[in-house]
Amino acid sequence: MRILKFGGTSLSNVKKFLIVEEIIKDKIKHEQISIVLSAPEKITNYLVESIKTAITKKRLIQLNFIENIIKKFLSELEKTLPSKILEKLKEEINAEILKLKDLLQTVSLLEKCPKNLNATIISRGEIFSIFIMNAILKSKGYQITIINPIKTLIGIGDYLNATIDINLSKNKIKKLKIPKKNVILMPGFIAGNKEKKLVALGRNGSDYSAAILSVCLEARYCEIWTDVDGVFTADPKIVKDAKLLNFLTYSEAMELSYLGAKVLHPKTISPLAKFNIPCLIKNTLNKNASGTIIKNFSKENSPTVKGVTSLDDITMFSISGLEKKEIHNLTGRIFSKISQKELSPILILQNSSNGNLDFCISDNETEKTFEVLKNELFTELKNKLIHPIKIIKNTSIVSIIGNKFQLKKNIYLNLFLGLQKNNVNILAISKNLSQNSISIVIKKCDVIETIQNIHSALFNQNYKIIEVFLVGIGGVGSTLLNQLKKQQKILQHKNIDIKICSISNSKKTIFNEKGIVLNNWMKEFENSKNTFSLEDLLKKIKSNKFINPVFIDCTSSEKIAEKYVDILSHHMHIVASNKKANTSCNKLYRNIRLITKKYDLKFLYETNIGAGLPVIENFQNLINSGDKLIQFRGILSGSLSFIFGKLEQGISLSKATMMAKELGFTEPNPQDDLLGIDVARKLLILAREAGYDLELSDIEIDSLLPKEFNLNLNTKDFFLELKKIDTQFLNRILEAKKENKILRFVGIIEKNGKCKVKIEKIEKSDPLYSIKNGENALAFYTKYYQPNPLVLKGYGAGNNVTAAGVFSDLLRTLSYNLGT
Ligand code: ASP
Ligand code: MG
Repeated sequence: MRILKFGGTSLSNVKKFLIVEEIIKDKIKHEQISIVLSAPEKITNYLVESIKTAITKKRLIQLNFIENIIKKFLSELEKTLPSKILEKLKEEINAEILKLKDLLQTVSLLEKCPKNLNATIISRGEIFSIFIMNAILKSKGYQITIINPIKTLIGIGDYLNATIDINLSKNKIKKLKIPKKNVILMPGFIAGNKEKKLVALGRNGSDYSAAILSVCLEARYCEIWTDVDGVFTADPKIVKDAKLLNFLTYSEAMELSYLGAKVLHPKTISPLAKFNIPCLIKNTLNKNASGTIIKNFSKENSPTVKGVTSLDDITMFSISGLEKKEIHNLTGRIFSKISQKELSPILILQNSSNGNLDFCISDNETEKTFEVLKNELFTELKNKLIHPIKIIKNTSIVSIIGNKFQLKKNIYLNLFLGLQKNNVNILAISKNLSQNSISIVIKKCDVIETIQNIHSALFNQNYKIIEVFLVGIGGVGSTLLNQLKKQQKILQHKNIDIKICSISNSKKTIFNEKGIVLNNWMKEFENSKNTFSLEDLLKKIKSNKFINPVFIDCTSSEKIAEKYVDILSHHMHIVASNKKANTSCNKLYRNIRLITKKYDLKFLYETNIGAGLPVIENFQNLINSGDKLIQFRGILSGSLSFIFGKLEQGISLSKATMMAKELGFTEPNPQDDLLGIDVARKLLILAREAGYDLELSDIEIDSLLPKEFNLNLNTKDFFLELKKIDTQFLNRILEAKKENKILRFVGIIEKNGKCKVKIEKIEKSDPLYSIKNGENALAFYTKYYQPNPLVLKGYGAGNNVTAAGVFSDLLRTLSYNLGT
C-alpha cells in the first residue's frame, strides 16, 4: 500500500487533476494506492474569508469566487467526462454549494461562527476535490472506494485543530474491508469526533491526514505531492540558491516543519516516524525529480546543517524583575494557565540569575496570552513585585536546523558572521538541548535579509562578494578598472563576485549598488552630473547594507586619507595606493589601526612601497613570526632608479629626469621625486611597520637638489634650472667611478632606528648595485636574515604593477590577515 497526497497547487485546474491521474496510473501498476486530496488551490482561503465577510459585512462575496472556480472546472470537464458522469458530478457539487450557502447564511444571522460550523465550511474544498477526482477516475474505468474521514478518523480536541487518535482510527479503517484492486480516495484535512461531528485538522492539515492514513493502512510509503521539488535548505522564494535536500531524518524533518519550513505540516512526521514509514516529497509538475526522502537512516548521521527556516508573525513577551527563588514557581503557574487556554508558546527562555522570563507566541494568540498573564500576575503587578509586562510584536523566529551542532564548531561562527552582515538586532537566542536547532528572535522587518545572510554564511562559504567603492581614476585607478573588467568573469568562476558600486574622482561620481557595468564606465562617468562628496557616499553605504564593502583610494589626497577612520567606522575595508594616511601624523596612523582591530577590518596598502612588490605583507609576516629588523637599505623610488641608471650611462641629470617624466615614471612635478620626499615617505612607512614611532620630520633627507635651488618654478623653467647642476652631478659620478662605485639614491633605517634618505656611493658587492631602469630593491637585514639580507627586487613603479598590487590587496580583504 502506498499513500499519495496531493496539495492544492497540484489540483488547481482540470489539467493538473489529469496529471494526478497519470501518476496514479503509473503507481497502481505496482501496488494498491490511496489518494488523499487537499482543496483546489485558493479555495480554503476563500472559505476562511467568506466566514469573516458573512459575519462583518453580512454578504457572501467570496462565495462568488469559489463558484467561479468550480464553474471553470465543470466547463473544462465537459470535454473530458462522459455526460452521465458529468451530470452526476454537477448534482453533487451544486448540492454542496447550496449547503455552503446555507451555512454561511446561518453565520451571517448569528453574526458569529461557532467552531463546528467553521470546520465544516472551511473543509468544503476537500469535498469538491474528491467529487472531481472520483468523476475523473470513474471515467477512466477505475474501481474506487471513498473513505469518509468523519466516520473513520477519530479526532480529539479543538474543532479547528484536532489531533487524531491513531489506535481508534486504525480499528475503524480495518473494518472497512476495501477490495485490493480499488483505488482509495479520502478528503484530507477532516476527521470526526466521538459525536461523529466533523472536525478540521488545522490549516494545511491534509499532510497529516495522509500520514494517519498511512499508519492505519500500514502503508509502505507516504508520498506528499506538492509544487516544489522537495525540502530545500531555505525557502527558495527567499533564497535564490537554496539547495534541495535529498535526505532528511524524521527528527530533522520535524524540526524543520515546526520551525517554519512550509513544505510539510508539522504534525505529519511524528506518526510516520513512530511507525517507521518513509515519507517522500515530490513535485507534481516535475514528476521525475528525485524529491526529498524522509526516513531513519541506518548509518550514523555526520554533523550537518540542513536548513534555515523562519516563523513569522510572532509576539515576544518579556517578564522581568522576578525574585530569583520565585522564578520557577512563577514559570510553572504561567505556563499551566497558558496551556489550559490551549495557547502554545513556541520558544521559552528563562534566565534565573536576573529573574527574566521571555517567551514567543503566535501573533493571533497575543491578546489571549496577555489576558492570561494579567490575571495570573495580578498581585505581583499591583504590588510592583515585577516590572510591567513587555510585549514586542512583529517579530520572527529564525532557526538553523541540522544535527550534532556540538561537533560542528564553526556553525556559531558562521551564524554570527551571517548576522553581522546586516547588523541585525537579536532579541533572543536559544539552542535546543538535543543540539539540532538554534533559534534567534529578530524583528520581522529584518527576516528576509537575515535568512539570506545566514544561509549564505552557512551554505555558500565558498562564494564571496566584494563591493568596491573606488576613488581616484588617474593612471592607477583607471588601469585597475581595466584589470577588474578583464578578471571579473574569471573570478566569478572561482566564486568571487567583485561588484564596482561606485567610481569617483575629486569632482564627479557614479554609483550603482548592483554594480557598474565596466564596459563603458568611462562614458557613464563623463556623462554623470553627480558631484562627488565622501559624506554622501558614506550615507549611501550606510543605507544600502552591503555585504563586504571595500573602499579603494587611488588618489594622493591628504583630505581623503584624513577620513579613513570615518570610512572604517562604516564597516568597510580600505585598500589604498595613497600613502598619505601612513605618512601623516602618528595619531591618525594609530587610530586607523585601532578601528580596524575593533571592527575586524582590513586596511591594506601594499602598493605604498615598491608598487606591486610584496613588501609590506612579507615584512609583516617576518615580524609576526618573531623576526626583528636590524637594518634596512633600499632603492625605493622607481623614477630615481631610472634616473640614476641613466646617469651611469653618461646622460645628464636634466636629460635623464626629462626622459623619466616622458615615460610617466615621475610625479606630475618631477621636483617631488628629486627632493627625496617620496622616498622619505616610503621609508617612514617601513620604519613604522618595524615598530618605530616616527614622524615624517624625523627622516633626514639629503635631497638631490641643492639648498639654493628655486622650488617655485614651472616645469619648463625647472628643467632650465636643473641643467645648471648637471656638471656638478657629473663630477660626483666620476668621483665615484674612480673608486669603482656608482651612485644610488637610497633609503636607510639604521640599527638605532635613525632614518635617512641620501645619495650613496655603492660598491659592486652591494645588492643595490645593479638596480636601474625603474626597478626597486629592498634589503632587509634582520635577526634571521644576516649577514646576507632578504632582498626583494622588481619594478617598483608604473600603472600596471601598481594597479595589480591594489587588485591583489582587494582580493586579500577576503582572507584572514594579522597585520602588525
Ligand atoms: N485545504 C486545507 C488548507 O489549505 C488543508 C490543506 O491544504 O492541507 O489549509
Ligand atoms: Mg495545502
